[in-house]
Amino acid sequence: MGVTDCHVHINPLWEMRPAARALIEAERSDRETLEAYLREPERFLAYLDRAGVERAVLVNYVSPEVVGYTERSNDFVLDYVNGHTDRLIAVGSVDPRTHPDPRGALRELKRRGLRAVKLHPPHQLFFPDAYRPERGGDVRLSELYSTCEELSLPVIFHTGTSIFPGARDKYGQPLLIEDVAIDFPKLTIVLAHGGRPLWTAEAQYLCRRFPNVYLEVSSVPPSRLLGYFPELPRLSERVLFGSDWPGPGVKDLGENLARFRELPLGEERLRRILEENPRKVFPD
Ligand SMILES: [Zn+2]
Repeated sequence: MGVTDCHVHINPLWEMRPAARALIEAERSDRETLEAYLREPERFLAYLDRAGVERAVLVNYVSPEVVGYTERSNDFVLDYVNGHTDRLIAVGSVDPRTHPDPRGALRELKRRGLRAVKLHPPHQLFFPDAYRPERGGDVRLSELYSTCEELSLPVIFHTGTSIFPGARDKYGQPLLIEDVAIDFPKLTIVLAHGGRPLWTAEAQYLCRRFPNVYLEVSSVPPSRLLGYFPELPRLSERVLFGSDWPGPGVKDLGENLARFRELPLGEERLRRILEENPRKVFPD
């Protein structure tokens, strides 16, 4: 079994709003290489080979207002993984606030090869519990969750803050996902970034409490992971490795993985986090 990086941004950067794109590109000296990876999956796969990563979860989503991504990002990722679905896992989204028919859309996306749904509350500007009667009773949102549950599509929630212009961090609090875990008990939920930096205790708590909730630790420098997530060793059956490459602060995917392997977790825990757990959430 090889390593799965559960959080990689192979996204249509050309669709981003200029301020958001500037943030991604500001610190990168490898923009042309990055462009080449986005246009040619084979070149990206060769990069994964050099990094020692077998599979990558390509988290795409829809955020017309804040980031600029539209439904075309679903078409982009489904097209990108075509012919490489043994190694590339397509993740897409529907806009939870505006999509007229989330059920129909998700069925069609699953038919076309989508393997998980990404929701980004701080960029999609919604509360994950907005379907609850006391929070406004948005039926489209409950339909979205129940459809993912029915179709066995895991939902990856961005949790924690975001530095993108226009992001609203109040939506990123992990505890808002408690209701989702209670009301949709068969739904697999991934807490991307584990609520960092403000709410890591909440994210760890949800993993302890709910068997279908996973802690994904991307975008935290590996050297600081055990500080942010002191329960990581104990929760290792529910932890997923992710790099968030090429997001802010993540220069190289292989480097990120190498630093992660240096953590004092022991071989067995490392194997679970890097190889086994991802195959439960994103089966081959
Ligand atoms: Zn990310």
